[in-house]
Amino acid sequence: MRISNPWPAAAMRLALLLLIAALIGLASGYVTLALLLALVLFLGVQIRSLVRFERWLRQGRQLRPPRSEGLWATLFEHFYRLQRRHRERRQRLAELLRRFKESANAMPDATVVLRGMGEMQWWNAMAERYLGLEWPRDQGQRIANLFRHPFFSEFLAHGDWYGSVKVPSPLDEHLILEIRIVPYGQERKLLVARDVTRLHRLEVMRRDFVANITHELRTPLTVIQGVAETLSEQEEAGSEDFQRSLELIQEQSQRMSRLVDDLLLLSRLETGERKSAAVPVDVAAMLEALAVEASALSGGRHRIELDIDRDLKLHGDQTELRSAFSNLVVNAVKYTPADGRIVIRWFVDDDAVHMQVVDTGFGIPPHHLPRLTERFYRVDSGHNDATAGTGLGLTIVKHVLSRHDARLEIRSQLNKGSTFDCLFPVKLSARGLAASASPGTSSP
Ligand code: ADP
Repeated sequence: MRISNPWPAAAMRLALLLLIAALIGLASGYVTLALLLALVLFLGVQIRSLVRFERWLRQGRQLRPPRSEGLWATLFEHFYRLQRRHRERRQRLAELLRRFKESANAMPDATVVLRGMGEMQWWNAMAERYLGLEWPRDQGQRIANLFRHPFFSEFLAHGDWYGSVKVPSPLDEHLILEIRIVPYGQERKLLVARDVTRLHRLEVMRRDFVANITHELRTPLTVIQGVAETLSEQEEAGSEDFQRSLELIQEQSQRMSRLVDDLLLLSRLETGERKSAAVPVDVAAMLEALAVEASALSGGRHRIELDIDRDLKLHGDQTELRSAFSNLVVNAVKYTPADGRIVIRWFVDDDAVHMQVVDTGFGIPPHHLPRLTERFYRVDSGHNDATAGTGLGLTIVKHVLSRHDARLEIRSQLNKGSTFDCLFPVKLSARGLAASASPGTSSP
């Protein structure tokens, strides 16, 4: 119902009252007094309505407004409607909030709403089960004060909202949680914790299995290689077919032994503790040594150049870095045709410390690039068969780099060449000759 404009009617009433008062005044000879009395009457009615209005507003729960007339009836009606609309909206919001809480509580993951500095504002039932939060005791507390696992603290301080961290639950160390933090709205974050205990156990089983099986393969492989070598050295070496079979056995057992070595190294990288990078490694000297080894492997078929900052060092693990860099340099030799050029670069810029291997080799089709660091992933091209790699080299590189908070960028153009760029955080760099480690000669 539309409320019509009450002002004309109100003005008419007042005018009528004054007219009647004037007429009575004229008849009785007391015009001023009659008008005054009429105004007092009018004012009294207004004050009475005002008092009723105030009382009605105060007793907000009363549904219908008190009966009144004219302007006041319209006012009451206005307020009554506003109040009803407000009440309905509040009920709708409460219902929405109730449904949201119900669905958040039904979620199998723990969810915690965090404010700007990590203060916990709200959480669902699973958060109480996984993280041991208690309502309302912990409301407003900072999550960093309650959940102090070092991995989680580092993750929170780091602010890597694209990644996740795996940590045991503070209530039960056998319950493994994967925690993500998603920023939303203004200075708000949503923490989501998922139970990944089963996945974690499977992953540990897989790692143990690979580590054990590769370790067990080592002894029989050494025996096969030894026997093949002894047989090939015997004077009465037998027929040409026999010799060819022996060569095949040697070749394949060498390949298997490279595979076993790579798998063992990978499982060490996956399971080993991350060592603190206290010693600055003399990467320049290491790369010089690798360039010499690459020249030997190339047999003079490639031009191998060094473009390195000799004074630049890196805090890291000498053996792991050598494995990674060696894989990149050896790959450049393997996948660059004769007369090609390979440049090994070592420098620092504003963003990162770079170890780059640039070659003018076969290149890699773009759709393979995202998958190159997967285990056993090899680009299916005519060049691979001859080189007989394991498909684990770049996986090793990726693991070593992630243990140094570094990343690998690969740029490549088919038949033009590739650039493998390792980017380390500048904070890991060091200058000067003091305390440098020697360029190790251990095999990759
Ligand atoms: P592999 O033992 O096969 O060399 P990697 O993991 O080291 O295994 O490399 C994976 C694949 O990436 C290789 O099979 C090769 O096809 C491709 N690749 C690696 N480095 C280069 C490079 N410098 N130029 C062209 N292709 C490369």
